[in-house]
Amino acid sequence: MIEDSPRCYQSAGWSEASRAPLSQMEVQQRELLGLTSSDLCLFLESLGERSYHGKQLYHSIYKLRQFQIGQMSDLSRSLRNRLQECSCLTLPQIALSQLSIDGTRKYLFELADGQRIESVFIPEEYRDTLCISTQVGCPMDCKFCLTALIGLARNLTSGEIAGQVLAILKDQEGSSIKAGHAPEQKKTTSLRGRPVNIVLMGIGEPLLNLENVSRALVLMTDPNGIGIPPHRITLSTVGVVPKILELARAPVVPNLAISLSATTDDVRNQLMPVNRKYPIQELIKACAQFPLRPRQRITFEYVLIHSVNDYDDDARRLVKLVSGLRAKVNLLPLNPGQGNAMRSSSPERVRRFQEILTSKGLAAYIRQPRGADIFAACGQLHQQSVPMDVAAVL
Ligand code: SAH
Repeated sequence: MIEDSPRCYQSAGWSEASRAPLSQMEVQQRELLGLTSSDLCLFLESLGERSYHGKQLYHSIYKLRQFQIGQMSDLSRSLRNRLQECSCLTLPQIALSQLSIDGTRKYLFELADGQRIESVFIPEEYRDTLCISTQVGCPMDCKFCLTALIGLARNLTSGEIAGQVLAILKDQEGSSIKAGHAPEQKKTTSLRGRPVNIVLMGIGEPLLNLENVSRALVLMTDPNGIGIPPHRITLSTVGVVPKILELARAPVVPNLAISLSATTDDVRNQLMPVNRKYPIQELIKACAQFPLRPRQRITFEYVLIHSVNDYDDDARRLVKLVSGLRAKVNLLPLNPGQGNAMRSSSPERVRRFQEILTSKGLAAYIRQPRGADIFAACGQLHQQSVPMDVAAVL
């Protein structure tokens, strides 16, 4: 079955498995964003059209990033008219875009049903990173994360997940075309000649929406479409243990990042309620079963909070916990957000923590927050862009 994606209007749906022709009512309601090449071929067949037009349609949407059906010049005028009558293409709409002083851009997207999510474009020295949301809100309730205050509204569809990538690429290509760079036509997507990385680290817990995330991964990595290779995509999770093993069997397996942020169950239970269901040892066991490509490592993200999880003993325990794994650690000094009493560890403490890890042979990197002035850094995403006054709103 094709996933339960939003239709342009309410609809009873369209079944790939049954290849059932669509009734006129249903045909009028087909949302094209999120459909794979074979989905689109079946859709065109169901309209009585040649199925290869589905491939052209796919190419127009995902490769050429042409989102106006009426402007898809690969398709005949009559087919475009037909498609415009019975389908729609709803890219997440940019409701607001804010530019940080460090070049990071945060997008507030409005979806077809009016729900809002945020995504972040992070230019780096040798690559650009897109931080993408997977749910509207988040149910995990991590005590250091601003997103937790929203709660969960719904899962994103695969079209809405891949649609964030398309919308950001289009927006960024728009600015680079203005700056004199032509859009890319290669198999692998790049911006300004630099590779693009994707991190599923925006709003939401990706493993609670694994089916749609998995479909989005297929769309994002297809060389005939968006074309971002799997090794350039990282999924970050709080550690939903059974879903980690399910992800390992998905058609496209991205890099895995685990938000650990504590080394004892006592502390982790308090910071991340998910730990009461899937304690640290179970999480580490699942990580040990996750298949890795040569030279690939699992990333452990560790939010450093003053006098909570930043002791020397924590660093030593962290080394022991991951000692049997091919692992690296990203240290994230706490970004302000929830307005509670927690504070970031001091720069000296962060460096000392890193030294203990590296002295024992564990690769550890201090991640500088990006876009903190526009609340675009880790743990700061919300459904509205704040604070407006310090951002350059374009
Ligand atoms: N639900 C997923 C992805 C979203 S959070 C997950 O938890 O992994 C992405 C990253 O931001 C996680 O590593 C999380 O630990 C980190 N994070 C959350 N709040 C933060 C904060 N206030 N400061 C720094 N990092 C934070």
